[in-house]
This record gives sequence, structure tokens and C-alpha cells, in this order.
Amino acid sequence: MKIMPNRMDRGFEKYQQEFEQRALEVLRSGWYVLGEQVSSFEKEFAEYVGTRECVGLASGLDALWIAVRLLGIGKGDEVIVQGNTYIASVMGITINGATPIFVEPDEYYNLDPDKIEEKITPRTKAVMVVHLYGQSARMDKISAICKKHNLRLIEDCAQSHGACFNGKMTGSFGDAGCFSFYPSKNLGAFGDAGAVAVDDPQLAADFRVFRNYGSEKRYYNKVVGANSRLDELQAGLLRVRLTHMEELTREKVEIAQRYTQCLDNPLITLPQVAPGATSVWHQYVIRTPLRDRLIEYLNEKEIGTIIHYPIPPHLAEAYRYLGHKEGEFPITEEYAKTVLSIPIYNGMTREEQDRVIDAINQFKG
Ligand SMILES: *Cc1c(COP(=O)(O)O)cnc(C)c1O
Repeated sequence: MKIMPNRMDRGFEKYQQEFEQRALEVLRSGWYVLGEQVSSFEKEFAEYVGTRECVGLASGLDALWIAVRLLGIGKGDEVIVQGNTYIASVMGITINGATPIFVEPDEYYNLDPDKIEEKITPRTKAVMVVHLYGQSARMDKISAICKKHNLRLIEDCAQSHGACFNGKMTGSFGDAGCFSFYPSKNLGAFGDAGAVAVDDPQLAADFRVFRNYGSEKRYYNKVVGANSRLDELQAGLLRVRLTHMEELTREKVEIAQRYTQCLDNPLITLPQVAPGATSVWHQYVIRTPLRDRLIEYLNEKEIGTIIHYPIPPHLAEAYRYLGHKEGEFPITEEYAKTVLSIPIYNGMTREEQDRVIDAINQFKG
């Protein structure tokens, strides 16, 4: 049996009865968009993250671009972001006409705090930090830099539900913690869903108005907004999964710890966790200069892998207009050429883990 890089069916089966019961409850309620499930989820998720408020939205990308918009960032403004992220982070900036300023990642695959200040100009308005692959970025340094230079701090937490730095949860450090609940994420819905976690009640209110066509009162539109509402079915199902987050996270951490203990091959570099940070292991990302051969070798052994991500945003066709060149961000580009995500998911059996470990350890290039 082929081992897939991710298995969302396993995460469903684990709590199948609870999910089915909640789904029926919502279907039978006769109320499907922005209702009790959404407001309960918003309360529960804010409590989980440790912010005063949470606003449910339609996707993680919406959380990002609407945050940038509502923080007053647009044309002529610059936002610092790491070069090796999923392209949605960058789109959250460019949808608003603002310019992404790429910074190289550190050895933990996250924004390198020591390379931020050299990129700050009078046009810099914000730092967008991405807690990539489930590990918190080094938020002590990054928060201090934002404070010192009076910059907004936006967190892309699409991969980091539950990850902490010095005991404080990602999504609670900055002006806006932007979450995706796309099915493959650590807190996954059964379709598209997202949310923003914020402390400022005015910003939360602005999000609530913006997500619903800019209207506070029906048919009275204060601003030009969007349709980015979270639906009741997704919110209800997310509430079920949220009650199990501790167990779900612990399970992934244990698989990652086993990988780190047992994987042993001089051709392969294992991921590291920074002092003070925790990872919830959205992905377990190894590196090897022999990536193509490793992918093929693992495929023959019926083990699937994914590259997160093969083309860095500065070299994407969509961003040709930014004028970046190959070689401009060597660490980012090196990661794009060598990273490989190996299977890790809730409900992964010990036997499946062993097959992955044995196969990688026997890889000879
Ligand atoms: C998934 C993801 C997003 C986008 O979330 P959607 O819900 O798919 O819009 C943004 N940033 C990162 C880092 C992601 O992994």
C-alpha cells in the first residue's frame, strides 16, 4: 500500500461520529452562514490562540490580504516577507498594490531576524512573518525589530496552529494572526475556511464589516468590502477538531521526534527547531542535493513526497513584474532546489513510519 504524503481521511475517521453528528446538526438547523457555530468558533479559537478576538473568514489568503488592507497598507508601501514561502503570503501583499521585500530564511526555514533591518526603508510599513512548516519564527527578535521601527506585524499562521515561541502562541504576537483551515492544514476544515486573530477590538470590528460586503447593518454599506464569510458547517466541524487539537498536535510531534531520532543518512539534512520555538510539524522537511533521485527511489518503494515549494515567489511567472533575477536570493533558491516533505499526518501508523525511516536510511544516492 502506497504511503501518501498526507492522509486527510485518517483525521476524519479518528473523530468520525462527532463530525457526522455536528454536520447533521448544522444541516438541520436551517441556518448556514454566519450564525451560532461561527460566533462560538470565533470565541473558542481566540481563547486557544490567546487573543481578545477572532473573526472567521473564507480562507487564509483572505485573512492575509484583508489584514494588509485594513492596516492601511497599499500602493507605494513595502512589506518585508521571507523569500521561501507559499505564494499566498506574497499575494496577500500584492493584491493591495504594496511591494513585497524578500528576506532570506534562517537555518530553521523561517524569516532570518538578522537580515530584516538592512531591508527597512522609509516606505516599509510592515513585516509579514510566516511560521513555515509548523515552526514558530524567532518572535523575540522579530517583535523587537517591529517595535523599534514602528512597523506593523502580520503573522501568516496558515501552517502553525498551536506552535509557540517562549510559550506564547503564534498568531498572538502581532497586529493580525492570519489562519487558514484548508483541509490539509493542522486544524483543517472540510473545505475552504480561514480566520484572523486580533487583540484590537476596532480591527476586529473592521474585519466583521469588511467580510460582509462592508455592511454592519444589512443594506447599509460603509466601505467597499468583500464576501469572505465563514459558513456554519465549516465552523461547526472546526469546533469539533479544535477540542482535539492537543492530542492531534502531540501525535504529530511524536512522529517528528521519531523521525529525528531514527533518520540517519549522511546524504540527508534533517530539520531543526530553534531555541525557544516549538513546531507543530505541518510538514517534516528534509534536504538533499540528490532530491530527484530520492523522490524516484521513494516512489519505487511506494512512498509519496511533496516539494514545498519548487519555485520561490520571486521567480514565479506571476511576479516577473517585480524584476527579480535568479541568484538574487541564494539561500531561498537553494532550499527550493533541495527541500522535500516526507509523509507525516494524524493517524499515521507506526508501521508506515518505519517504512519511511527504513527506506530513507537505506538510500545510497
Ligand atoms: C495554505 C497557506 C495559505 C493560504 O491559505 P488558503 O486558506 O489556502 O487561502 C497562506 N500561507 C501559507 C503559508 C499557507 O500554507
